[in-house]
Order: sequence, then structure tokens, then C-alpha cells
Amino acid sequence: MSQSVEQGTLYVISAPSGAGKTSLVAGMLRDDHKLGVSVSHTTRSMREGEQNGVNYHFVGREEFEAMIAKGDFLEHADVFGNYYGTSQAWVRETLARGQDVILEIDWQGASQVRRLIPECVGIFIVPPSPAVLRERLVGRGTDTPEVVERRLAEAKEECRHAVEFDFLVVNDDFDIALADLLAIVRAQRLRMEVQQPRHQKLLAGLSGLA
Ligand code: GDP
Ligand code: ADP
Ligand code: 5GP
Repeated sequence: MSQSVEQGTLYVISAPSGAGKTSLVAGMLRDDHKLGVSVSHTTRSMREGEQNGVNYHFVGREEFEAMIAKGDFLEHADVFGNYYGTSQAWVRETLARGQDVILEIDWQGASQVRRLIPECVGIFIVPPSPAVLRERLVGRGTDTPEVVERRLAEAKEECRHAVEFDFLVVNDDFDIALADLLAIVRAQRLRMEVQQPRHQKLLAGLSGLA
């Protein structure tokens, strides 16, 4: 029998800040134990309630720039004046072990990843209206009014890139949006190119070849 492990699927999830991406991804991880999320490196300061190594690896600009120079990142981008980047080694190794991986990254990072790993699955999440986006960003209570305004201004640019993704999920009712995301993952696992190697014997038997 072949010892080779099927590569995991890479999901690239983007959204304007405050759309609910982080909360929805947390729900996906809770409900689907075959999913893992990449913990990015960032130079932004830690919010209350965040933990180093859990939400992000929080690093200084010099350390981040040294990591860029070493080629440690699969992708990196400047978002709202801070660096954010995805660990190359962790993502490649986790996919090679056959585990599905989620990247929660901005549109610039998504377009870099699409070029490097064209078979990745892109999902864009939007709020039901601009007013709701503002409410959620303010309601989250983690950012100063200036930061909220900057994130809202950047949201327009982010949303201009929505059509570059394979799926669009509207996060109005949280549970419906979460079910939509889990449905995308489930459908992806039923694709013929995934199922056929897994069920080769069954298909051969049913075709009268066994
Ligand atoms: P939030 O999305 O409002 O909770 O804000 P964050 O500060 O967590 O993220 C800021 C931006 O950086 C978002 O657009 C993220 O998608 C993006 N981001 C986070 N991690 C990465 C990463 O590893 N690479 C890239 N390119 N962008 C990232
Ligand atoms: P992002 O990671 O995209 O910036 P968050 O997951 O931090 O977004 O969500 C922003 C805020 O909106 C949080 O306070 C979160 O609890 C809230 N939120 C997310 N989805 C919904 C929803 N469907 N209905 C109401 N509030 C939501
Ligand atoms: P926040 O600062 O609110 O945690 O994240 C702001 C934005 O940064 C989000 O839109 C998030 O998707 C993006 N982001 C977080 N990590 C990364 C990353 O590793 N790479 C890129 N390109 N964007 C990231």
C-alpha cells in the first residue's frame, strides 16, 4: 500500500477588519477538529486578552525584518502600518502531514499565497452593511477611535478584492455564516480528486473489477 499522505487543503480567509473573521475561525476550529490555523507573526501591539503564541507571535520590527531576510515567511504584508506574516515552515509541514490549514490574512497576503499555492481555497467574509462593520469594530472595544477609522478606511480597499476569492460568506447571523464556512470545508473534502484515491478499492469493486 502506498505510504504517501494526501496533502492537506489550504484555506485562505480574508475580510475587512471587524467583519467577524477571527470569531468565525474560532468557531470552525471548535466544530471541526481536522482544521488547524496558522499563528501569524505581527509587529502590532498586543490587545488586552491576547496571548503571545496563541493569537499571534508578537515581535519587533527588527526581528520581523530579519525573518523576511531569512525567507521565513510564506507571505508578509504591511497592514495598517504594521507587519504581518505567515510562517513558511509551519504551513508547508502541516499541509505535508495531511492536515488542513486556515490562513487568516489580508488581501495582499492572499494574492501572494494564490501565486505560490494555486490550489488553495479562497474565502472572503463581509459584514451585512458598512454600518454594521462600524458597530462591530467599535463594539469590540479593542482599538482606539483613530485605529477604528483607519481600519474602516482600509476596509473599502480590502472589499475591492473580494471577487479574487472562490467563496463569499456574508456574516449577518453568526451561526449561519459559521455553517456556511463549515459547508465549504465539507464540500472540499468530497471533491473527486480527494475522494477517488481514498475510495479506490470501493470504486473498483463497484465497477466489477475486484
Ligand atoms: P482584525 O482582523 O481586525 O482582528 O485585526 P488583526 O490586527 O488581527 O489583523 C490585521 C490585518 O492583518 C488583517 O487584515 C489580517 O487579515 C491581516 N493578517 C493577519 N495575519 C496575517 C498574515 O500572516 N499575513 C498577512 N498577509 N496578513 C495578515
Ligand atoms: P475580525 O477578526 O474580522 O476583525 P472579529 O471576529 O474580531 O472580527 O469580530 C468583530 C466583532 O464583531 C467582535 O466583537 C465579534 O464578537 C462581533 N461579531 C462577529 N460576528 C458577529 C455577528 N454575526 N453578529 C454580531 N456580532 C458579531
Ligand atoms: P488585527 O490587527 O485586527 O489582528 O488584524 C488586522 C488584519 O491583519 C486582519 O485583516 C488580518 O487578516 C490581517 N493579518 C493578520 N495576520 C496576517 C498575516 O500573517 N498576513 C497578512 N497578510 N495579513 C494578516
